[in-house]
Amino acid sequence: MIVVLSKSVSSHDKEMIRIYLRDRGLSIREHFLGDDAIIGASGKGVVDIRELGLLPGVERVAATSKPYELVSRETKAEDTIVTVGAGPSFPGVKIGGSRITVIAGPCAVESKEQIMETAALVRESGAVMLRGGAYKPRTSPYAFQGLGMQGLEFMKAAGEAYGMPIVTEVVSPELALQMKDLIDMFQIGARNMQNFELLKKVGSLGKPVLLKRGPSATIEEWLLSAEYLLAAGTRDVVLCERGIRTFETYTRNTLDISAIPVVKGLSHLPVMVDPSHAVGIRAKVSSAALAAIAAGADGLTVEVHPRPDEALSDGPQSLYPEQFERLMRDIEALAPVVGKELLRTPRLGAAGAPRPKPQVGTGSPEGPAELPVAFCGENGAFAEQALMRAFGEEAPRLQVKSFPGIFDAVLEGSAVAGVVPVENSQTGSIHENYDLFLRYSDVAIVGELKLRIVHCLIGDERASLDSITIVRSHPQGFGQCKEFLDKYPQWTLEPATTTADAVASIAREGAVKVAAIAGEAAALAHGLKVIKAGIETNPLNYTRFVIISRRDGDSAPVPPSLGSGAPNKASLVFSVPDEPGALFGCLKILSDRGINLSKLESRPIQGKPWEYLFYVDVSIPDTVEDFEAAIGELKTKTRDFHYLGAYRASL
Ligand code: PEP
Ligand code: MN
Repeated sequence: MIVVLSKSVSSHDKEMIRIYLRDRGLSIREHFLGDDAIIGASGKGVVDIRELGLLPGVERVAATSKPYELVSRETKAEDTIVTVGAGPSFPGVKIGGSRITVIAGPCAVESKEQIMETAALVRESGAVMLRGGAYKPRTSPYAFQGLGMQGLEFMKAAGEAYGMPIVTEVVSPELALQMKDLIDMFQIGARNMQNFELLKKVGSLGKPVLLKRGPSATIEEWLLSAEYLLAAGTRDVVLCERGIRTFETYTRNTLDISAIPVVKGLSHLPVMVDPSHAVGIRAKVSSAALAAIAAGADGLTVEVHPRPDEALSDGPQSLYPEQFERLMRDIEALAPVVGKELLRTPRLGAAGAPRPKPQVGTGSPEGPAELPVAFCGENGAFAEQALMRAFGEEAPRLQVKSFPGIFDAVLEGSAVAGVVPVENSQTGSIHENYDLFLRYSDVAIVGELKLRIVHCLIGDERASLDSITIVRSHPQGFGQCKEFLDKYPQWTLEPATTTADAVASIAREGAVKVAAIAGEAAALAHGLKVIKAGIETNPLNYTRFVIISRRDGDSAPVPPSLGSGAPNKASLVFSVPDEPGALFGCLKILSDRGINLSKLESRPIQGKPWEYLFYVDVSIPDTVEDFEAAIGELKTKTRDFHYLGAYRASL
């Protein structure tokens, strides 16, 4: 049984609760989890749960039959987000929540050159942490055992050179103490999952821990090992499924995909997957990795070697750098489908060194933003989801009531950036917002992000499909759910500023006749019920948001989650003289330099009937000089040329 105490519990009330439990024959344990004080109680005694719940100082009682307490979702409902490697000059890498965190590196550190080379490669592809074994628990005593402390020194140097926290396996309590100050995260290997003395020692050192599942461990045994770590004091535990032993011999182990949703239901701890040790065959690793992400994993740890054929351990399962690069791109494309964003490293500067920390950029690895990021809409709006995806859940937000309000906040400096929806994959451009870029020429696009839009019909607790007569949403919401709405021609449709505004209005009015079309987050934020989920006509329904900031800002707050590397996309707006071939001439400038056009749209010019502006998105080639020359030439051939910004394209 778990008793969560209220924040204001007095020491007297606490003592009375202890006495109450002991008097009824239960043995008790006291813990802290975040801000919550918790008493775990077990034994043969019988307790009236309702009576216990009414004692002063008791917030909540969970009558769990589970043998673990601190790792249980019954103790802590919200996801734990683990931060690794935070320091005075680095905010740390986050694991858990709405991000996908990828750790990569060789099975073993083999030399300084090898770990440096691997770190550079995996970082370039987007890994945010570096892995590598210095103490290798090998099945054969004659196999390569690792470089020991020297290997750790090499790894530390590589982690520092490339701005990546390091994780490495610890095999004994004595070594844990020696390793502590060299590493950012301990890994407890599969073979040591039930080495309880090791768990107690590592759990007491205050460093994050990646806990592999033992090859023959049940989910409950695995969670109990995590309980050892938490009971010893650490809060930062990440579980790692790495394949279990079954009768199948084709693969090295069997990746237990179903363990991911099961454990995420049972525990608040993040769950990562190691597809390399699970599968053991290089050609199958990426498929398993993508399956893990689809099943809800919070991240991956993947073995990558610059030359796997020369690897001293686990070469056959180590990815070639090109395979890892491809995998990262596939994860990026898959992430929005499962409502997540791939966590990206901050961009590399010209010399290959990490750029200085942006002031905001809190999709982490950056820490919380100081100035807020603006979005339009009520709590739970899709724009708020996009903001959290880009800047992290903790990023301070500024809610404004209209789309121009976002631009105003950014220009006035009350927000450091803004999140603006510009296009939906089904219903097309949001022209109102496109037009704002022309009115606010001191604002530039610095990033983009695509969010999967799953619409729900949302109403009061008592509302049902039969009680509804009015449906409110943003007109885009109606457009995206047309097939569903066509089944209910008797409903009156009322437009709202945003989908979440529609939800908020129902919460205020408490109406059973009115429903809203919006995302599930809006229902949760306003305490309403989802009457029907997934009502968008096409499940491939994405909205593209752009991140805007002031042009004169000295550090454009590009969240690292929005891509690493130099900008590869730019948005332009121009009009052309009214003469034959004028538009063709402009497009030829781009085509002659091999610059790809990803969007071309015309819009009427306000106040000039029958004259049009062209909205153009282009890719920026590797030869930036070609791009700059093309822009220079376009300026001379067009009228009203606006350069909206250059940024990293979202897939
Ligand atoms: C490793 O990650 O290097 C490793 C040895 O994994 P496991 O403990 O899962 O076998
Ligand atoms: Mn290995």
